[in-house]
Amino acid sequence: MMTKDQYIESLRKLNLNLWMFGKKVENPVDDPIIRPSLNSFALTYELAEDPEYDDLMTATSHLTGKKINRFTNIHQSTDDLIKKVKMQRLLGQKSGACFQRCVGMDAMNAVYSSTYEIDEACGTKYHENFVKFLTRVQDEDLAVDGAMTDVKGDRGLAPSKQADPDLFLHVVERTEDGVYVTGAKAHQTGYVNSHEVLVMPTISMREGDEDYAICFSCPTDAEGITLIYGRQSCDTRKLEEYNSIDVGNQTYGGHEVLVIFDRVFIPNENIYLNGEVAFAGMIVERFAGFHRQSYGGCKVGVGDVLIGATAVAVEMAGCAKASHVKDKLIEMVHLNETLYSCGIACSSQGAPTKSGGYLIDLLLANVCKQNITRFPYDIARLAQDLAGGLMVTQPSEADYRNPELQPYIEKYLKGVASVPTEDRMRILRLIENITMGTAAVGYLPESMHGAGSPQAQRIMISRQGNLEAKKDLAKHIAHIEGK
Ligand code: SF4
Ligand code: FE
Repeated sequence: MMTKDQYIESLRKLNLNLWMFGKKVENPVDDPIIRPSLNSFALTYELAEDPEYDDLMTATSHLTGKKINRFTNIHQSTDDLIKKVKMQRLLGQKSGACFQRCVGMDAMNAVYSSTYEIDEACGTKYHENFVKFLTRVQDEDLAVDGAMTDVKGDRGLAPSKQADPDLFLHVVERTEDGVYVTGAKAHQTGYVNSHEVLVMPTISMREGDEDYAICFSCPTDAEGITLIYGRQSCDTRKLEEYNSIDVGNQTYGGHEVLVIFDRVFIPNENIYLNGEVAFAGMIVERFAGFHRQSYGGCKVGVGDVLIGATAVAVEMAGCAKASHVKDKLIEMVHLNETLYSCGIACSSQGAPTKSGGYLIDLLLANVCKQNITRFPYDIARLAQDLAGGLMVTQPSEADYRNPELQPYIEKYLKGVASVPTEDRMRILRLIENITMGTAAVGYLPESMHGAGSPQAQRIMISRQGNLEAKKDLAKHIAHIEGK
């Protein structure tokens, strides 16, 4: 496995064509806007080195028998699925942000089991191809980004019916050795911190969409790829002269980028689906299922940090004993643990696929994610309720560092007399960061839309909910004819 330092050094070798604020980024590793996201990603390596977290952070490869980082593991049991969620909660607690490596893990697990079944049905060699890629990822402990979401254009039209054919990523030319692809993947979490990208189709496909039913991997810096960094609320605070208090979370963060593929060549051995339209939906459903499970871990860990920050803030303000305050903190814990329960439940009810890799219970994973589209917003609302307005109206760190102003700020922003005012400012900025700042991208809108927007889960719940069986149960008890 790579150490944290080896991982960071390995990223320096990438030659990414990355743009931010209209300019090319020559050194993403040391860029002050990007670096916190790299620090979060690096935690997935750092904690794997720590014997205390060995059981959660590492696994044994079913391919080679070697010890590997759990983020490169193919789940071999329900125990593996549960440990995955626990690992994600741990990382959320340690970073207070999105640590990004889950997308690749979820993509690899989806593609592993799907390619096995595609080969069985179609006589293709995709699984063999994929196992070669996976073995390299495990041996070299590579960081992999999973790329699913196309930009989609007119949502009412199928991929092949769009006015612009590139609005879904597709094959533009086939040669004996491979294919050329063009298109874009949006909201790509952690791409800049990854060595490889595993690209999947974004929706179920039908006849006529063959060129769009494409799944492959390639290096993140492959020729023809352009990256445009996503803006986050309050991101430029990281560039200010005083950039410790106001950023809220100085060390950790997350990022998303728009990834543009312009005639990128993919050799045959890195292709895992190529035109078998009937199987695009299987990859999508499994990836989405795994990623919906993931949120029952990572968002809960960030929720733990937010609840803790809120509890500290009310203590600093001297109102921790008020009964409504205690009750609101209890409500936050209740909501957060409900999310965790769903993550654990869909894992414990997982089952093996034909490949041997384990899949979560899809109904429960979708229920998990549906709750994720709501409860973090409720938790954030309660955090803002208890934190008070100072979270968004307090002066800047630059004002606080000004000798003329500091005495005033010290005096008038004081809560409980024994608490340093600076500490109070710090904890309020952390709450601001998670509920409105850079980390809010991961904690709120990503809870809404990541791994599929709410309606996507409702469609799956309606498919998997087995209403007919429930009707039969009722008819039987009511002694209605026929049951
Ligand atoms: Fe992992 Fe959560 Fe970030 Fe997705 S949002 S990559 S599950 S930490
Ligand atoms: Fe996500």
